Amino acid sequence: MLTDRRKFLKSTAALLAISSWSAANRGNQPFFGLPEINYQQQPLPFSYGALEPAIDAMTMEIHYSKHAAGYTKNLNDACLAEKVNTQVLPLVTLLSAISGYSEKMRNNAGGHYNHEFFWQSLHSPQPAVAHQPTGPLAAAIENKFSSFDQFKLQFAEVAKSRFGSGWAWLIKAKDGSLQIGSTPNQDNPLMNISSLQGTPLLGLDVWEHAYYLRYQNRRADYITAWWTLVNWPIVEQRYQQ
Ligand code: MN
Repeated sequence: MLTDRRKFLKSTAALLAISSWSAANRGNQPFFGLPEINYQQQPLPFSYGALEPAIDAMTMEIHYSKHAAGYTKNLNDACLAEKVNTQVLPLVTLLSAISGYSEKMRNNAGGHYNHEFFWQSLHSPQPAVAHQPTGPLAAAIENKFSSFDQFKLQFAEVAKSRFGSGWAWLIKAKDGSLQIGSTPNQDNPLMNISSLQGTPLLGLDVWEHAYYLRYQNRRADYITAWWTLVNWPIVEQRYQQ
């Protein structure tokens, strides 16, 4: 009986240790003021047609239900094969140690994270929606890039010149400064193998699957239209986190 009680106490202590370790580590991770991005695809925060005319409904449907869903499925397959406990290990922690995993894990963990982040960064281009940031983020952008228009020009240039498939980012670097950069394929600035390192504030998918149906080869036009969809209040929250 005593032994059983000891065993029980021991296993309870172990569970508590694990959960407090997990809580402490999660506490140290940047979650950008958003619902935590885990290993499951969340429902889109808007309908497929809500971003018309900048992004058409069919592109959104295929992008979300085929491309992004595929990354999520393949990420979970890779986690099973590589014994990642998705209940315990936060996705951002996996990304920060991605060099220790397979190419499949890298592509799909990035693909899943980037798309969940991307959907959360967009909203319907209602006339009432502000098309630029306010508050501390607006001040930081003006300080770093001289004006919001200059920032947009630089960001668009980086997005246009990313060769092949990838993402353009606005990030908050470790020293707190803003930086614009891009990553190839489904890499992102949270990955320890990335040359661009920092907390993502805003990301733009420049894979052809994100725009080809409406824009064909005109990536620049897609970028111009995408500015009307940016959910600046979310980006501001991420900056102030
Ligand atoms: Mn995509």
